[in-house]
Amino acid sequence: VLKDISFAYDEKDVLKNININIPKNKRVALVGLSGSGKSTIANIIPRFFDNYKGDIIIDSQNIKQMHLKDLRENISIVTQETILFNDSISNNIKYGKLDASYEEIENIAKLAGITEFAEGLENKLETIIGEGGIKLSGGQRQRVAIARAIIKDAPILIMDEATSSLDNITEKEIYKTIKNLMKNKTILIIAHRLSTIEDSDIIYVINKGKIESFGSHSDLLIKSEIYKKLQLKEKLENEY
Ligand code: ADP
Ligand code: MG
Repeated sequence: VLKDISFAYDEKDVLKNININIPKNKRVALVGLSGSGKSTIANIIPRFFDNYKGDIIIDSQNIKQMHLKDLRENISIVTQETILFNDSISNNIKYGKLDASYEEIENIAKLAGITEFAEGLENKLETIIGEGGIKLSGGQRQRVAIARAIIKDAPILIMDEATSSLDNITEKEIYKTIKNLMKNKTILIIAHRLSTIEDSDIIYVINKGKIESFGSHSDLLIKSEIYKKLQLKEKLENEY
């Protein structure tokens, strides 16, 4: 539960009195124009930024009273900018679960659509990906970041435009995997394409650091001007 959250990076207020409820084992989505504050919301939950006003409560515990290690152990996050190391693909996945067996890594790699491209690489999953994963495409990097989050298997999953560089088909497959594997997880997902979050339990529309509206997809098509605009924009892009 995010209770009355306000936040500023410098002087400028970025979040203004945000209230969001993410029920246990449900999937909640944030949508809104770029710059509206979605990533900021995602990033204050694991306390990447700490100086917010208001309270964030997980299972009736205020996260400010939790040990950072405990908090972060309970959260798998795919940030908007993927963070990868100059190491093998398998080790980059394993970073999510240090005691994972090789078989586990191979399974997750398959589910996250990594095997598919790794087969074409010189050393398959043992290929060294370069600084920040420079030797992989944007979409390939995102798949490694997603695999790392899946293998961690934390009760909370946060995905911030985690599939923005994937083509529609790969993106759909990966969401199918996530929905299957993550049935008993509490999920916060920031949409890149609205079509991937339409079936979320609750969708929040963020506008200039405030919540414009929230509800189901069909609710928002009636009551949210911004949601309707985003929908139209996506429809036009698809036709193009
Ligand atoms: P979204 O994810 O919806 O595109 P963000 O949460 O990334 O929006 O950004 C919200 C606002 O905060 C923007 O105006 C952005 O420029 C500003 N912002 C984001 N990150 C930082 C930062 N690290 N330092 C200063 N301003 C930031
Ligand atoms: Mg963002």
